[in-house]
Amino acid sequence: MIELQNIHKSYITQYTSLHVLRGINLSIENGEMISIMGASGSGKSTLLNVLGLLDRFDEGKYCIDGISTNGLTMQQRAYYRNKLLGFVFQSSNLIAYKNLVENVALPLYYRGISRKQRNILAIEQLDMLGLKDWATHFPNELSGGQKQRVAIARALIAKPSLILADEPTGQLDSSTAIEVINLLKEINKKGTTMIIVTHEIGIAQQTNRIIKITDGQIE
Ligand code: ADP
Ligand code: MG
Repeated sequence: MIELQNIHKSYITQYTSLHVLRGINLSIENGEMISIMGASGSGKSTLLNVLGLLDRFDEGKYCIDGISTNGLTMQQRAYYRNKLLGFVFQSSNLIAYKNLVENVALPLYYRGISRKQRNILAIEQLDMLGLKDWATHFPNELSGGQKQRVAIARALIAKPSLILADEPTGQLDSSTAIEVINLLKEINKKGTTMIIVTHEIGIAQQTNRIIKITDGQIE
């Protein structure tokens, strides 16, 4: 599913250059559930953004699902991002003025699916995650755990092969965090590959493999 070879990335501003990823090598098999750990500022989000085709790297090779990403145009990157990937972030990033159906349906809009069909699929997805009764409610009416559930529904709606989650439980209390990680585990069991950034060892221990980043490399 994922093959990273000797990935380097620096952030360069006018006066400084910060070499964050210093030769990352990583293979992830289809169906795996892995966690990425490391100190704050060690480059976890940077790596996830590279994996998610959200950001570029300076050196190395990155193949996803057999596709070499090195030579892709911006449009091609967006195409593969929509086709293959789902994202979950620390704060659920739901759109406040859209109800849950509209929030969850959003990724389908970019695939040119009709509004009627989008709504049917979104309600189905909310139902699968136990949120059907909330379909026409707005994000500010939900608890933190429910919001993350909606964010996961939105990540799932376009049936991605891979879900990338950046500290998905970072703003939740520990019992809600366990509920969210259990949900991600269930989704993984149904076949979706999962990469989770977390600094909570209890969360990481729920995954098949823990990867630790130190000094820009995998320890
Ligand atoms: P983590 O997610 O492990 O906490 P990040 O990947 O967010 O770490 O950041 C790694 C380092 O890169 C940090 O020192 C951070 O300040 C810096 N950094 C992250 N994003 C940018 C950016 N867009 N421009 C400049 N520096 C950045
Ligand atoms: Mg981060």
